Amino acid sequence: MGPDFDADLLFFHAHPDDESLDYGLLMARAARAGKKIVTVLFTDGESGYDRYPSRPVNEEYPDEALVGGRLANRRVDEARRALSVLGSDLYVRLGLQNHPYGSITEELSLGEVLEAWGGEQALVERVTGLIRRYSPDIVVSPPGPSEASEHFEHEAVGHIVAKAVERFEDTGERTLGGYLVASDPDHRSLYEKLFDVQATHVVGKRDLAVNARAGQAERETVNLRAIQLAALRQHVTQLDASVVGVKSRSTRSRETYAPLLWTLPGTLTDWLSEAVLQAGG
Ligand SMILES: [Zn+2]
Repeated sequence: MGPDFDADLLFFHAHPDDESLDYGLLMARAARAGKKIVTVLFTDGESGYDRYPSRPVNEEYPDEALVGGRLANRRVDEARRALSVLGSDLYVRLGLQNHPYGSITEELSLGEVLEAWGGEQALVERVTGLIRRYSPDIVVSPPGPSEASEHFEHEAVGHIVAKAVERFEDTGERTLGGYLVASDPDHRSLYEKLFDVQATHVVGKRDLAVNARAGQAERETVNLRAIQLAALRQHVTQLDASVVGVKSRSTRSRETYAPLLWTLPGTLTDWLSEAVLQAGG
C-alpha cells in the first residue's frame, strides 16, 4: 500500500466487480471531477464462477476453468484494471473469505458471515481504522440487511460499514460529509431522500466557468455509461459483469444512492461540481 493520502471518496464493496456493476457511474464521475478515490474490496471472489469455456483463452486466461485461488488471482487483476478504468486511485484488499452463492441452500446468515470474517467487533474496528486513515469526505457502501434482499456478503459489508461510520462519528474526531448506500431503483420507497448520478454527464454552467478559465470553453459531454461498460468488460471471468452486466447497464439511465448521513451543503451533484471549482481555482 502506498503512502497515505486523504481521500474524497472511500468505497467499500464485497467482491471484485461490485465496484463496476453498482457504483461505476459515481466512481467515474467523481474521478473526472478530480476527486481522490480509495476502494476497499472485502473479498477476492474465489468462490465465484469462471465463465469458461465461453470466455476468451489467451496468455492470461488458460484453456480450463479457473477455480479457488487461481480464480481469485485473475479477479483481483480484473478489479485492478476496472478500477483504473473508473479512476480509483487506490485498491485496498481485505482478502476475507468469499462464500459460494450458487443456491438457496448456500445462503448464510449475517452472523455466520461476520463470524467467518473474524467477528463483528474486529471488522468494525478494521473499517473504522480505514476511515480514519483515508479521512474521506464521503463513505459509500452497499446497504445493510433490509427488505430489499441482496447477496448476503453485500449485506454484511453494509452492516459493518454502517457500524464503523457510527463508531467514527461517536469518537467526535471529525464529522463525515456523507455516508451513501447504493439503492436499487425498485426500492425507492425505502428511503426519504435519494441522490441520482446520471449515466451521461453534461458539463454544467459551474463547470463551464472553470473550463473557460482553463481555456476550454466548449461544452463537453462525459459519457459515464461508456466508462462503466469498459470497466465491466475487464471482468472477463464474470458472466454477471462482462456479459449480463454490460447488457443491463447499457440501458440503465442512472445510479441511485440513499444518504444515511449527509452534512454537506446541497446535494451529491453539488459536491461533485464543487471539486471542479476548487481544482480550477
Ligand atoms: Zn457482489
